[in-house]
Amino acid sequence: MNPYEVLGVDRSASAEDIKKAYRTAAMKNHPDRNPGDHKAEERFKKVARAYEVLSDPSRRDAYDRYGTTEDPGASHGHGMGGMHDIFSGFGLDDAMRAFMENFGFSSGGSGSGVVKGEDVTVKVDLDLEEAALGGRREIEVERNVSCGECSGTGADNAAGSETCRQCNGIGKVSSIRNTLLGSFRTVNRCHVCGGSGKIPKKLCSNCRGRGFEKKKSTIAVDLPAGLSAGHYIRLRGQGHHPGQSGIPGDLKLLINKIDYGLFRREEDDLVYPLTISYPQAVLGAEFAVPSPDGDSLRIKVDSGTSAGTRFKLKHHGMGRLHRRGRGDLLVEVDIHVPGKVKRREKELLNKLEESPSFKVENS
Ligand SMILES: [Zn+2]
Ligand SMILES: [Zn+2]
Repeated sequence: MNPYEVLGVDRSASAEDIKKAYRTAAMKNHPDRNPGDHKAEERFKKVARAYEVLSDPSRRDAYDRYGTTEDPGASHGHGMGGMHDIFSGFGLDDAMRAFMENFGFSSGGSGSGVVKGEDVTVKVDLDLEEAALGGRREIEVERNVSCGECSGTGADNAAGSETCRQCNGIGKVSSIRNTLLGSFRTVNRCHVCGGSGKIPKKLCSNCRGRGFEKKKSTIAVDLPAGLSAGHYIRLRGQGHHPGQSGIPGDLKLLINKIDYGLFRREEDDLVYPLTISYPQAVLGAEFAVPSPDGDSLRIKVDSGTSAGTRFKLKHHGMGRLHRRGRGDLLVEVDIHVPGKVKRREKELLNKLEESPSFKVENS
């Protein structure tokens, strides 16, 4: 799916243009305006997904660079199944929720009345090796999880519960909303029972009726090679649990910064600055340079090398995000010019200057 095509905007479109295009397309295909039209519903879901990608700078950037609409961590199958693939299980509810949230409707109620917990964002700093080659990170996170005592109901197990009178046990209340954009039937979660349809006779003493409790956990996250600062990896359903019958939000692992050490990054390539002496530049020499793998690599600087010359060590750069292979390691030569010289050195330089190979034609 090309999200730009879906929304009918070009690649240089501003955030405002994208939002406008999304609004127009979502309004046109909204299920309440096209009852029973399955194709409109599919288009509605599609534009919501496209907007989800293009409204998020790091995902838009990832799409522009790599042509994928997934989160940076998503395409690597590594035991999480499809858990954090943004497109698996993206249904009408998700599209409805996105629509409601983006246009200021009550976020308490999506089409199905399912309550989703808040996302948890954890920032991590990577070292060069992790960013270049990928790896596995264990992160500690404190989240709200479903209460172990009452299984999230919020009710004291022994005392039991009774049917909510507000919603007659359905857990939802529907209403018609009139807005500038038109009229919509919105189904909201019942505020009295929180969507469970039941009122506990006595609250659970462990969670005081909230249905969730705080818990620290350690989670292992696989990092694909080639991540950049600003990218994040989304782990679906690993965020805060809202309690009751809701579903947990997502855990977002945000790449805060990357320590490149002695290197500089240029897309998938790494640049290593190597300072050599003037005689070495003229006569040529061999050097050992570090690589992101931790190995030391040999490089031969040819005779007659000028400052700024780059020598390429193929496939020793950054891993390519979502693709095979690696970028290159570029060794960039700088030539040391001494600030002060001894008398004897000055004599030698004066001789060199008169010597034909060292003559430079200039005015
Ligand atoms: Zn509880
Ligand atoms: Zn209720």
